[in-house]
Amino acid sequence: RGPRPVPGPTRDGDGTPAVHALAPLGTLTAGQLRGVADLADLTGREGTGAPRVTPWRGLVLPLAPAPGDPAPDTGAARAVRVLEATGLITRPDEPWHGVGACTGRPGCGRALADVRADAARVHTRRRDPAALPVHWSGCSRRCGRPRGGPWIDVLAEPDGYRVTLRDADGAPANLPGGSPGGRERTGEPPGAAPPTPPPLPVDGVATALAALARGASP
Ligand code: SF4
Repeated sequence: RGPRPVPGPTRDGDGTPAVHALAPLGTLTAGQLRGVADLADLTGREGTGAPRVTPWRGLVLPLAPAPGDPAPDTGAARAVRVLEATGLITRPDEPWHGVGACTGRPGCGRALADVRADAARVHTRRRDPAALPVHWSGCSRRCGRPRGGPWIDVLAEPDGYRVTLRDADGAPANLPGGSPGGRERTGEPPGAAPPTPPPLPVDGVATALAALARGASP
């Protein structure tokens, strides 16, 4: 698959206006599905108008402009507003864009935390569309972690969270300039075991993410 498309108005392969919407944490609620279904009823065409699920945990909804419609993109803007009202991600700067999480508690027996609920407490502000993906995991398996580029690992431990900048292979990465990009410190001289800082409370994760966004070690 190619790069993740940007949420919002887009064009289908044949130039038809369409909307790309992402489901927060990859989960569609009944209300969101109803909103998509209503829009598909109103705007979809037989065959090509059906909403399509994407590998990026989203939907592409092709919109059929009325014949001779001089402003076919108006329908796309309207559809964006409807989908946004259901809580789907339709703008690249929305708080959930680029944020992922595993199942966590209570759905997974290995989980040390309800990572989805904790992520909801932290990701309340608009995000820089160019910010690195953030992934919350309830244990070291890190199910569903991002692939293909650097990302920020928020890992639940028994006493809190550990925030680490990682490269595409999942190894701890350094920030530009060489400072360690997280609580799992790297780049220390051989033999000099650095003290391991304590895990962070949920509120501390927000501060650590902000520090990484500034290019500083959290
Ligand atoms: S990362 Fe761990 S806690 Fe999360 S879903 Fe996978 S096994 Fe469960």
